[in-house]
Amino acid sequence: MALTGGCQCGAVRFAVDGELGRPSICHCRMCQKAFGSFYGPLISAPGLRWTRGAPKHFQSSNRVRRGFCEACGTPLTFEPDNGPAEVAIGAFDDPTALRPVIQLDVATRVPWLGELDNLPTTTPAEAEKFAAYYASIVSHQHPDHDT
Ligand SMILES: [Zn+2]
Repeated sequence: MALTGGCQCGAVRFAVDGELGRPSICHCRMCQKAFGSFYGPLISAPGLRWTRGAPKHFQSSNRVRRGFCEACGTPLTFEPDNGPAEVAIGAFDDPTALRPVIQLDVATRVPWLGELDNLPTTTPAEAEKFAAYYASIVSHQHPDHDT
């Protein structure tokens, strides 16, 4: 069965048939910048096909272009010129199924990444303060399934 996913607004949807590569997180500065995050979570997907819309691309280097939704900006792909497209793990409808098994380019990993799990979390009292606000939120994001 194909795995599915898409951008946050739903203009671009994809399915992946067949075997996937190894799920990874890439710490290179280019992935950090492309994802606006601490690393790029990616999985190679030779069987990738677009089922709704298609991404726009930014040629981030002479060897790689990166796909994103032009309507909402969600990063979607890393497309090297020497291999299959890789897909952003967070864009899959169920990213929990794609647990990373390797880290790439650790020389540029943010130095405190391993400390994040030790950060304090919101207390129940703090959560209660914002409960009404959170209850008022209506998501405009596409749901995690094809409609
Ligand atoms: Zn979108």
